[in-house]
Order: sequence, then structure tokens, then C-alpha cells
Amino acid sequence: MDDIFHYIDDHLNDSLAELTELCKLPSVSAQNTAIEETAKHVSGLLRDLGFEARVLPKQGGHPVVYAEQSGLSTRTLLFYNHYDVQPAEPLELWSSPPFQPTLRDGKLYGRGVSDNKGNIAARLAALRAWKEVRGELPCAVKFCIEGDEEIGSPQMEEFVAEQRELLAADACVWEGGGVTWEGVPQVLMGVKGLLYVELESNTVNRDAHSSYGTVLPNAAWRLAWALASIKGPDERVLIDGFYDDVRPSTPEERAAVEAMPAEEAETLKSYGVEEALTGVRGLEYRLRHLFEPTATIDGLTSGYEGEGAKTVLPARAMAKMDFRLVPDQDPDDIFTKLRRHLDSRGFSDITLRLVAGVRPARTPVSDPLVEVVRRAVVDAYGREPIIVPTMAGTGPLHPFVATLGLPTADIGIGYPVANIHAPDENIRVEDFRAGAKGIAALLQRFAEG
Ligand SMILES: [Zn+2]
Repeated sequence: MDDIFHYIDDHLNDSLAELTELCKLPSVSAQNTAIEETAKHVSGLLRDLGFEARVLPKQGGHPVVYAEQSGLSTRTLLFYNHYDVQPAEPLELWSSPPFQPTLRDGKLYGRGVSDNKGNIAARLAALRAWKEVRGELPCAVKFCIEGDEEIGSPQMEEFVAEQRELLAADACVWEGGGVTWEGVPQVLMGVKGLLYVELESNTVNRDAHSSYGTVLPNAAWRLAWALASIKGPDERVLIDGFYDDVRPSTPEERAAVEAMPAEEAETLKSYGVEEALTGVRGLEYRLRHLFEPTATIDGLTSGYEGEGAKTVLPARAMAKMDFRLVPDQDPDDIFTKLRRHLDSRGFSDITLRLVAGVRPARTPVSDPLVEVVRRAVVDAYGREPIIVPTMAGTGPLHPFVATLGLPTADIGIGYPVANIHAPDENIRVEDFRAGAKGIAALLQRFAEG
């Protein structure tokens, strides 16, 4: 692999320049800016590397860039990425303009340099090295690069089902993870799902004088009681059947979590709390964080929220909630169970709206792909990675695992202070270099089988 790695080193500045150009395009999916332009730009970059690339329309969303190229081995690796980015606001908190990537102290700053254009560029750097040095890729490669991951990937399940044959592969590499605080590369094997809902209580037809608290129903109380019925102080979710489909972690997954570094002290300290919920610590803390579903109140609105006192009985109250789901919970099923729960507890007056649903997915840590990725990481980083059975966050992974049947792993160029989704998003150039080598080595290891 040394020849390939040298090529990546020698052309690092070209790859960073390519990333910089890509990040100048403000492809903010939430604001629908520069979407078509960026899709075209990305497919052009792939074509320059010898890919057959197309921009495919997606029902109810932005177009998807699809590309494919054959290789020495017939085994096919599918890369999932996204070319859209989060809004750059608040602009005043950036040290340099978000869409004019700037290099400072070994770091490149700009919106998308990490999430996810940096990972696209690192993958292109690896592929270019193979093509230039060896003339051919070691295995067949496909790309599926979507344009609305940052707004929840609407209709990605349907798109993948429709394009099942086009996207067929032997394994999938997810959008891109990164290294820990200590610089240890991580291989991530899954995501949690998500159910996002709004609950609303409407009692009287207009706000009333609070003296009517004797006889008129208060929307804020109705909502507070309904919310209190959903989760107890012991942190257990009280919706009937909520835990029915939770897949127990395997001994292999528990062993992988045991081998992960303890990070609770840093997390708790950074949030200014003494101990985790219910006092959970050590291995139990990590197991809960990765394998347990959640019920979270994200926002609450009702009545008078201004300065001073206003004695008012609110007519309306609204709450936003998200549930992080784990395999094999299904957001539609949990939504139905939540509705049934509210009805059976006397809260049929509470309106419930489904805002978003994403299914969870996980590839077993015992899958042969893990060993392939592990070897590639050792080749590139010179050290053993941490195998993380799932991340605590969410992504549109489910159709790739369930519909396409692909084992999926996630490696990438990020690090803990990449500030993704926030001002001063950045990557360290050395992580980009190592990440590109990781992908280059993975192509070789994957081709070997
Ligand atoms: Zn993101």
C-alpha cells in the first residue's frame, strides 16, 4: 500500500483544494440553496475519476448522485454520503466565512468540511490514488450521495427500495465517523432510529382569567399530566409495549462496549453535572447510552412566558418530543402505541402529530466486514480501532441494512471538536490524510475478501 499512501501524501494539497471548491457551494438543504449545482459538481468530480455518474431524482426530496465503476475484483463496495450541509447561521460566531474554507493552524474551517463533504473528498483522494498509481480500482465501487440528509432524508427508504438493483453491493461504508479525543480511530456499526412528535392540548376557546382555575380546564396542566404519564422518575418509558421490540445486545456487542474507553467523566463535567441519570456508571453507562431507547421532551410552550406575572389560564399548550429508538423498534409502531397509551390514560383530548420517523439499524460486530475494516484501519493509522456497535445518533441507514441487506461500517475524518452543525466547523488536515489512507486500504482489504 506504500505507493498508494505516498500518492495521497504527495497530492494532499490538491485534495484539500478540491474539498475547498466543494465547500464553496452553499448546498444548505433546509434553505434549498445550490442543491442542483452541487449535485452536478459532485457527479463531475466522480466522472473525472472514471465513474459513470448520474443525478437521479428522488420523490419528495433533493436529487441523489449515483456513480459506479468496476474494479479488479467483482466485489462491490457502496459508499453512502451526502452533499447537503446544515445552515451556517449564526454567521457572527464564525471566525472566517463559512462558505470560504480557510486553513489555519493545520485545520480547515468551513461549513461541510467535516459533515459530509470532507468525507466525500477523502474518499475521492483514495480513489484517485488507486487510479493514478495502479490504473484500476481493486474492487468495484458505487456511490450513493444524497442531498437532504440534514433535513431527515425524506423518502430515502422508498428511494432505496426503488433503486434496489442499482445500489446492489456486497457491503456499505457509511458517511464517515472519526477519531476519539486520544486519536483512536473508531469503527461505528449502527445508528439509533427516531420518532419525533408534537403533542398539543387545547382546552378552552381562549385564554381565561386564572380565577377560573376553579372550574375551567387548563391546557398546560392537561399537557403536563399527559407528559408525566409517558416516563417515570426511574427513567423507564411507561408506554405499553414500548420495549417489546428492543433487540437485546449480544455478548459480542457487550464485549465491544467493554473495550471502549470510558468517557462519562468528560461528558458529565462538560455539562456541569455530578452524576448520570439514576447514578449509572462505567460499563452500564455506555451500555445504556448505546442500547437503550429514550423519551425526551425537546420543547414546551404554553401561557404567558414574558417578564413578571400574568395571571392567565392558558387555552393551549404544546410539547415537542423525540424518542431515540433502537433495533427493532419501529417509529410508526411506537407512534401507534403512544396514541393508545394517551387514550387509555384518559388523554384522548391531547392531539398527537407525527413529525418524523427514522428506523434504527445495526450490523452485528461479529460480521466479517468488521475484520476487513479493522485491518484497513491498522494499515492506515498504525493502531487498532475501537469497534463501536452503534452510535447514539440517527441516520438513514435502515434501508441499506434491511432492504439491500448490506453489512455497513462507518469510518471517517472527524474528531470530537469538529463542530459539525455549529459555527467554525473544521477538520484537522492530519485526520483528512489518515482518513483518505483508511479508505484506500479498505478498498484493498475488501477486494481480498
Ligand atoms: Zn450532519
